[in-house]
Amino acid sequence: MTGTPDRGWLAIAGLGPGDDRMVTPDVSDALAQATDVVGYIPYVARVAPRPGLTLHPSDNRVELDRARAALGMAAAGHKVVVVSSGDPGVFAMASAVFEALEGRADWQALDIRVLPGITAMLAAAAAAGAPLGHDFACINLSDNLKPWAVIETRLRHAAKADFAMAFYNPRSASRPEGFARALAVLRQECGPDRLITFARAVSTPEQRLTTVTLGEATPEMADMRTVVIVGNASTRRVGRWVYSPRSAG
Ligand code: SAH
Repeated sequence: MTGTPDRGWLAIAGLGPGDDRMVTPDVSDALAQATDVVGYIPYVARVAPRPGLTLHPSDNRVELDRARAALGMAAAGHKVVVVSSGDPGVFAMASAVFEALEGRADWQALDIRVLPGITAMLAAAAAAGAPLGHDFACINLSDNLKPWAVIETRLRHAAKADFAMAFYNPRSASRPEGFARALAVLRQECGPDRLITFARAVSTPEQRLTTVTLGEATPEMADMRTVVIVGNASTRRVGRWVYSPRSAG
């Protein structure tokens, strides 16, 4: 991190999908200089404790409170890292921090940086081959912050436009039947032969990759540790991999 030694700062950092080797040196440097780490409990648990570092784990769904607390500490002179898994700008804490900055000129003057990370869909695509090698859409299937109707519209349009698709939070705890409905929409729009990859706990010892057709896919193949990738009309298997050709149409 830049910044004078006695001034506080805030870094919003992505820890990558799980493997420590996928944490960027930039993120490691910020963590090494931090006085405080803020984030959702399992993500803060990935940061090694050390003298001089205070860990502030918090529960899910309190993103805005967490962002305000982090900004308050940075304003008081602390060196604060807000951690997300994957990339902090993908369905994660970066937007929450910027939302908390609205109307706060004092906080807007702080030294704030977003440090990117390897997001789940890119780690999953790499493990599978190159299913996102052509145009693709990325959709959060959780209905926590948007109504199901919006999810379904986006899903349908992305499928009609023949994008490959990556789905985060495929089975939300609050509405487990959502993913069954998503699969039904996909079968309608893409037919039963389209390839779908379930990538669970990518880059961790529990990593599991399963590629089937939409006709074979069942809702139970996904959980909250899974990112789901649906191919476009040209996505195919080669050997043990799945890839989307570089050209379309
Ligand atoms: N900011 C994160 C995404 C947070 S949303 C990122 O950029 O990756 C949480 C969702 O991310 C999970 O429900 C799952 O769909 C996906 N995810 C995160 N880590 C994953 C991993 N190691 N393997 C598979 N999916 C993962």
